[in-house]
Amino acid sequence: MNQDSFRNFQQGLSEVSRWLFPLAVIWLLGAIGLGWLVKVSLIMLGLLLVTPIVLVLGVSWWLRRNLVQDQCPVCGYEFVGLERSEFRCPSCSEVLQAENRHFVRSSPPGTIDVNAVEVTAQAIED
Ligand SMILES: [Zn+2]
Repeated sequence: MNQDSFRNFQQGLSEVSRWLFPLAVIWLLGAIGLGWLVKVSLIMLGLLLVTPIVLVLGVSWWLRRNLVQDQCPVCGYEFVGLERSEFRCPSCSEVLQAENRHFVRSSPPGTIDVNAVEVTAQAIED
């Protein structure tokens, strides 16, 4: 019984000392004039924690602004492209551009786009 409570006391002490040790080190560094070291390492730790979060948020915001999902105007294949850039349709390899969140054909200057219209043939009989 007495032995048991002593062991519990020892375990509790080791638990407390585990928490107190970093505080003691910080206090000691502050006492010998190295408080700036503690501050710098805390700032570095904060930056290490904050930087990945900021990066992930920034990249996802940028992707949401710049990724365009639309259908190819030529073959109708739906895929994702980058806003204000030229790329090829993965299905029909037509050169396309993303403008105002839609894909448009990127044709060289001077090219006239023509839409084919189907005309039904009528036999004229006299
Ligand atoms: Zn296509």
